[in-house]
Amino acid sequence: MNTKAASSLTDTVVVDSSFVIDSTSVVKDTAVQKEKGYLTERWRNPVQVPVLDTLNPISKDSLARFVRLERRRVRDSVTQELDKLPKHVYFTFDDGPLIGSSAIDSISKAKNIKINAFLVGRHANMSKRLKKDLQRYKDNTLVECYNHSYTHAGNRFNTFYSNPVSAYEDFEKNELDLELKHKIVRLPGRNIWIYDDIRRIDLKSGASTADMLYTNGYKIYGWDVEWRIHSASGKPVQSVEEIYTRIRNYMNNKSSMEPNNVVLLMHDDMFQSKKGQQLLSSLIDTIQTTTDYKFEFISDYPFRY
Ligand SMILES: [Zn+2]
Repeated sequence: MNTKAASSLTDTVVVDSSFVIDSTSVVKDTAVQKEKGYLTERWRNPVQVPVLDTLNPISKDSLARFVRLERRRVRDSVTQELDKLPKHVYFTFDDGPLIGSSAIDSISKAKNIKINAFLVGRHANMSKRLKKDLQRYKDNTLVECYNHSYTHAGNRFNTFYSNPVSAYEDFEKNELDLELKHKIVRLPGRNIWIYDDIRRIDLKSGASTADMLYTNGYKIYGWDVEWRIHSASGKPVQSVEEIYTRIRNYMNNKSSMEPNNVVLLMHDDMFQSKKGQQLLSSLIDTIQTTTDYKFEFISDYPFRY
């Protein structure tokens, strides 16, 4: 995939009962290697198959040990590099417009952060108030609107995805009805990602619909971390501290789908109570005061280094 990067590696392995790794360190590699996505590629495929000396065959055990140590060495080095580079967080809100959407809209303006709304067309047609809330999202330049299907699968996900053609048409209807500009989708009830060179499926049911969407020009995004708050009471399932720590861990451990990019899932109805709204403000404040993470639109995902 990244042949230029791969061929520039100068690591050599001398096989002689123990491995001697004469390595130009990754840090040095990256200093000369500016190709976009190089570090991400090294993170995903940290171990290059060593050139083995056929005169001195090695045991399976020592090869496994080499691979383990090498993976750690490369990943530690890549982590150090990535930590010096910008980090991106994506606040995504599903199922709007719902009671709660107008508060999210106001908070994004008050805090001046970009947010991402995955919308359900049927909800916009349920009341005048929700239609108005949809318009608020659309008029707010800090909000980007994306496709979460027209019916939300009627919350019967297996049935919905068992007919990929009608499921596909449901997303199309949503796009037309809400006049969505981006071909960006999140599947209801599924954490599926298909974009660029990535295809990750959580549940098989949904895969055909996602593939059909992708074939027709859509990108499909899931999430790394989910925050839950009881919608009516505003009582958090995870406290602000807990969710903040999880986001930080994903960022630091590079365990998100894309290193240095963390996607947070929330739902609009979590923020219908004052209590819920305060928690959202508090999470944003915590991130803004203690990290240098940038709030981003999903349409810019991912930032690769
Ligand atoms: Zn949903």
